[in-house]
Amino acid sequence: MSAKVWLVGAGPGDPELLTLKAVRAMREADVVLIDDLVNVAVLEHCVGARVIAVGKRGGCRSTPQAFIHRLMLRYARQGKCVVRLKGGDPCIFGRGGEEADWLRAQGIEVELVNGITAGLAGATQCGISLTLRGVSRGVTLVTAHTQDDSSLNWQALAQSGTTLVVYMGVAKLSEIRDNLLTGGLLATTPVAMIENASLPHQRECRSTLAQMQTDALAFELKSPAILVIGEVAASQAGLIEQARSA
Ligand code: SAH
Repeated sequence: MSAKVWLVGAGPGDPELLTLKAVRAMREADVVLIDDLVNVAVLEHCVGARVIAVGKRGGCRSTPQAFIHRLMLRYARQGKCVVRLKGGDPCIFGRGGEEADWLRAQGIEVELVNGITAGLAGATQCGISLTLRGVSRGVTLVTAHTQDDSSLNWQALAQSGTTLVVYMGVAKLSEIRDNLLTGGLLATTPVAMIENASLPHQRECRSTLAQMQTDALAFELKSPAILVIGEVAASQAGLIEQARSA
């Protein structure tokens, strides 16, 4: 591989959910910069690469984005093969787009490699089909977390008729509930809250829109977790398991 930066999705956690391309990039990397949510088990594919944790929980308290940019640039200019490994998919709430644009503007070649995003993985692992004939004709991925003052059009989301998958929502459950109720979504709308999707310690809490904050408190729901809001969230993974073992 020639010197360039690979922005690679490490998937939601389960190392078997990595793509073959991600594995190839890691094998050939000289330097790997990893984010918090990357399961370190995937690093077994980084043979001989220098691994640098650049996430909040990874050693540096909070690595400023500008520093990460400069680090990628410095190693790429040294002719090193740089892999920037991100949880899930690099372009779903992962700043992959920003980093790719910035690097290209510096004249660095960039390749983006998909990963399975947490929202899709979490739902599937719990037996939830995000689209379902006759029930849900689409999926909307949203985050309740913003760094600017921009706000979501909650009314449009509530009335979209699509399954909503919310990232970074654990600390904002009451706000999400209130906004969607005001927007016209029924209080009885099923909700699934999935913590540590695809990892051995995955947990799921089933609830409704009206109850989700109370139930999440009792369940001690922690980040990282995704919320699946919509009729499809009523599908029972437990029943699917029972049917399999029958
Ligand atoms: N690029 C990532 C998302 C990063 S934003 C992706 O595509 O998955 C961080 C948020 O992703 C977390 O707050 C949480 O909402 C979600 N998330 C990431 N990994 C998760 C996991 N294993 N289980 C549940 N949610 C997860």
